Amino acid sequence: MIKKINSKTIKLIKFYELINYNLVYNNKAINRYKRHTFEISGDKIEKLDKLKKLITKISNCKLKDNATNIVFADGNPKSKIMLVGEGPGFNEDQEGLPFVGRAGLLLDKMLASINLDRKDVYITNVVNYRPPDNRRPTDDEIARYLPFLKKHIEIISPKILVLLGSTALNSLIGNEKTISKVRGKWIDKKIGECKISIIVTFHPAFLMRQPAQKKMAWIDLKMIRDKKIKLKI
Ligand code: URA
Repeated sequence: MIKKINSKTIKLIKFYELINYNLVYNNKAINRYKRHTFEISGDKIEKLDKLKKLITKISNCKLKDNATNIVFADGNPKSKIMLVGEGPGFNEDQEGLPFVGRAGLLLDKMLASINLDRKDVYITNVVNYRPPDNRRPTDDEIARYLPFLKKHIEIISPKILVLLGSTALNSLIGNEKTISKVRGKWIDKKIGECKISIIVTFHPAFLMRQPAQKKMAWIDLKMIRDKKIKLKI
């Protein structure tokens, strides 16, 4: 016998359809972001190209939705010195290159003080799209871009990794650490198959606000210069 469906039941069915009950009542945690355990093949330049393409395919990302351009990297992919900043600002978003604004000018001066320029290093950021209003990327955003950043580091395979500021520090070393506690020393870490000497220093934008800290940054820069000589880079 077919049971008569009353209007209350019909309303309930419609309601369940409306709220996507599968998602709401499912016991399993919702995997909002596909985890990127990806293999990238080819030579270095092909791998970088593939990584960039993968990043452009990110969906449901507020950063990407609001940005003008992807900001992937600048400098020399063959360099053994890699720098990681926080995320693109207005100028970087316009030009599609990292550190081309005021903070970038100071970064260039910092590099020049130890006889380096952009051709001698490779530069990227924790996130590849500009956070709206230049805010710090959220923990979720940082976590989402971290697999790409780690793959980026693996592809470049630097011997020296310079983390500029607390966002880069927190994403690659840990949330509980502060710059003042970890700067001025070398941290040996394996990222993928790469054994890397990491140094954390102040972000150039921070140094523009707190010029008194430049003397500490100078100590870090000299450590990079000395390490470069020691490693015969
Ligand atoms: N600040 C960053 O952290 N990265 C840039 O590319 C520019 C400014």
